[in-house]
Amino acid sequence: MKHPAHTILTGGTIIDGTGAPPFSGEVVISSDRIVFAGIPERNRPITAPDSGCEVIDCTGCVIAPGFIDAHSHSDLQILENRNEKLLQGVTTEVVGNCGFSAYPLPEDPQVLRDFANGIFCGDNSWGWSSASDYLASASRSKVATVASLVGHGSLRIKVAGNTCRSLTSRELDTMSGLLDEALQQGAVGFSSGLMYAPGSGASAEELATLCRVVARRGGVYATHMRNYSDTLVEAVEEQISIAEESVCRLQISHLQAAGQDNWPLQQYAIAAIEQASARGADVAFDAYPWLAGSTVLTQVLPQTALDGGISQLLSRLADPVQRESIRTEIKPEARWDGVVITSAATDPASLVGRSIQDIADERGSEPDNVVLDILLEQQGNVNIVEHCQSMENLHALLTHPLAIVITDGVYTTGRSHPRLYGTFPRLLGDVVRELKWLSLEEAVHKVTGKPAAAFHLHDRGRIAGGYAADITVFDPETVRTDASYEIPAVAPAGIRSVWRNGKVVVNAGVMV
Ligand SMILES: [Zn+2]
Repeated sequence: MKHPAHTILTGGTIIDGTGAPPFSGEVVISSDRIVFAGIPERNRPITAPDSGCEVIDCTGCVIAPGFIDAHSHSDLQILENRNEKLLQGVTTEVVGNCGFSAYPLPEDPQVLRDFANGIFCGDNSWGWSSASDYLASASRSKVATVASLVGHGSLRIKVAGNTCRSLTSRELDTMSGLLDEALQQGAVGFSSGLMYAPGSGASAEELATLCRVVARRGGVYATHMRNYSDTLVEAVEEQISIAEESVCRLQISHLQAAGQDNWPLQQYAIAAIEQASARGADVAFDAYPWLAGSTVLTQVLPQTALDGGISQLLSRLADPVQRESIRTEIKPEARWDGVVITSAATDPASLVGRSIQDIADERGSEPDNVVLDILLEQQGNVNIVEHCQSMENLHALLTHPLAIVITDGVYTTGRSHPRLYGTFPRLLGDVVRELKWLSLEEAVHKVTGKPAAAFHLHDRGRIAGGYAADITVFDPETVRTDASYEIPAVAPAGIRSVWRNGKVVVNAGVMV
């Protein structure tokens, strides 16, 4: 058997992305495809006689499919060719999550940019009119193959502006039409962010109407639910009933029970998902391997305070009566000493790295008042990390057969959550090798074949003939991350080389 080979990866252990046990073998890449993966013919010389053939010795390493980050917020950074994910072995990213997509641009583009402020970290000029325009730009990314979800918040802003009110039937029809168009143009699904205004204003009926469009086009509905704390179970049940009613594939985003009092609720949330799955619903969830979350500080406010956007919030906060009514409804997901500022617009030096409790103590004020003061001082532009999950729950999430593993990484102007830099090495190093929560092949499956199937990425996520030559070679004994909450921007160790569409993009741990 003669391979039309250009690159042969030899001497390594293949983990093919399906969850099957590892095996020793060779992977042959020709152009942008894998043309052979398996045990080579006996006697085939290691160094191919064909001079066009390059042989890469992978002794001691695992040869896995390029990783898929199915919950990315790098909508803008994939175009800036940022390498934080690529260095972790990620070759495909699903963007447009939590209701935020960089299209369709509304009449006043600033309304969309203000809405995504803190989730997208970009200048003031981004925005695309349609899914096809965005995907055309994204296809030129040098760091990732990009699949996109249409954000419910972005669509809603296009049709009705940044308002939390319910939509008229005419507006909902327009929104359905725009969603349908985006799915026809290549978006792989639809995402909601029901804890962020204006998505928070959507009724279950509105979402079910839109999900019927998604179902018709064979897409996936990914949801950042209404609540991950005291009403977690009700939030899961609402999303399941929307998916069952519309017969739509459901992906529950970054599942967790936030806040110590709510930790016992997670098992009921998972049970509800399992029961729906047993009834035949196409439902799954994802989780990141970290105990802290990351979001914008305005998340602790009642979202009605953001009706109309950040400028409206700031004028409400300037009014003593409205400020007081917002203050009484503030609800953090963690204790105030676990809510840590990671970026602030105008005065990062005095705020970044400090908890709300710490700042409140210094100012001799109460934490809820300090939150409102800081938001006013920083024009609403503050990111946080919230230490809010338990180790036991994290184990239950990551080891669950319906779970895939994601980064949910958000770029900020300050100190980003370490998940942006270290999620995949943390999975392979801490979770697999040190904690032994998963086998290596199970962990690889959760970041390759499983997300590829969930998001309909047909030729990705597997080491097999005919698949795209997206390959990550790592050392299972040394793969690790030292990214921490204090010093997150640390490149991983043990991710040796990465190919994307047959081209080497990381070599010896460094972007080529
Ligand atoms: Zn989210």
